Amino acid sequence: MNIKTNSNFKNIKETYLFSEIASRVRRYQEENPGAKLIRLGIGDVTLPLPAVAVEAMVRAANEMGRQETFRGYPPESGHEFLKKAIADHYTADIRLSEIFISDGAKSDIGNLVDILGNNKIIIPDPVYPVYVDSNLMSGNKISYISGSSENGFLPMPDQIREDGAAVIYLCSPNNPTGAAYDRAQLTKWVEYALKTGSLIIYDSAYEAFITGDLPHSIYEIEGARECAIEVCSFSKFAGFTGTRCGWTIVPEDLKADDGTSLNKMWFRRQATKFNGVSYPVQCAAEAVLSGEGIRQCMRNIAYYQENADMIAAVLDEKGIYYTGGKDSPYIWLKCPGGMDSWTFFDHLLGKAQIVGTPGEGFGEAGEGYFRLTAFGTHENTKEACSRLRELL
Ligand code: PLP
Repeated sequence: MNIKTNSNFKNIKETYLFSEIASRVRRYQEENPGAKLIRLGIGDVTLPLPAVAVEAMVRAANEMGRQETFRGYPPESGHEFLKKAIADHYTADIRLSEIFISDGAKSDIGNLVDILGNNKIIIPDPVYPVYVDSNLMSGNKISYISGSSENGFLPMPDQIREDGAAVIYLCSPNNPTGAAYDRAQLTKWVEYALKTGSLIIYDSAYEAFITGDLPHSIYEIEGARECAIEVCSFSKFAGFTGTRCGWTIVPEDLKADDGTSLNKMWFRRQATKFNGVSYPVQCAAEAVLSGEGIRQCMRNIAYYQENADMIAAVLDEKGIYYTGGKDSPYIWLKCPGGMDSWTFFDHLLGKAQIVGTPGEGFGEAGEGYFRLTAFGTHENTKEACSRLRELL
């Protein structure tokens, strides 16, 4: 062939993290066939869908099988019934025209680069890798702001070296650190964005895990409508990782330097390249936002939170520094004894048969840290905690 490819792909690092974990685990199992491994590395939910979601999907599937109730293509930005349910879920005023239903937060985060030019990009480190890779694919230059024990893994605007308009990615509660911004911190971010003419892309995929008085949405902060897009998901709230549904809010107040409306551009982008989420899935998403739906989802989240509490209790006992575990399914701990992330991975696997995720895989600032997750069963988490108590 004589075609050219997108040469920016050459700038993307190989995603060796999960394949490297799998190969080290495989090797260990071959050498220790009787070992009972506990996996605390997964970022995927494990509890089944809430009953309301299943019932809604079955009902909708039956509607699709009858002439009178059959539906073809859904509206590009989603059915109004689901947009209404999402708008009601927010404490801030969100117009239906500002809500765009999608097949999940990952697609929207990855696709938002389509409507943005070559801006300065600011991304916290460590963080969910999709922000970095989608910008590298577009040829954008990235400046990183590091998380550390000094800032509680919550980078702030005073760490930005050159002021000026930028696209800033924030994730709260954060994957992998579990750290979540409070109102005062998010206010500083919104003030910074307004002052510099920057855009914040705010990923709130884990907002349902927030327990304290922390903002669930950036629109709880005054001025955010003029500087922020928010991306959210049913994946972690309702266990939709395999069902696929999320949404993005693009306020009508967002205007680029030449006055272009980002809302109109995103509508155009989605209408051109995306044909909507299936009717049964949108019905299931509406159902989980009902009173009973929220109760069922929060029961599952409480189950994961009990796992997080168990792990956090061991780290508290041992005096090991960590973030997360309170408003998040992730616990981000400092590797004991100054071990680097992969040495601690091998140590934990070899000595306690526990599989976690080396922090270095989420960015340079993750070196020396380690992610454990609360998505396991109570039984396995309890067993892992007693092994951790012995080992640490
Ligand atoms: N945002 C963050 C921070 C995540 O950790 C994940 C998935 O793990 C996603 C977005 C993806 O969500 P979705 O399943 O809606 O694509």
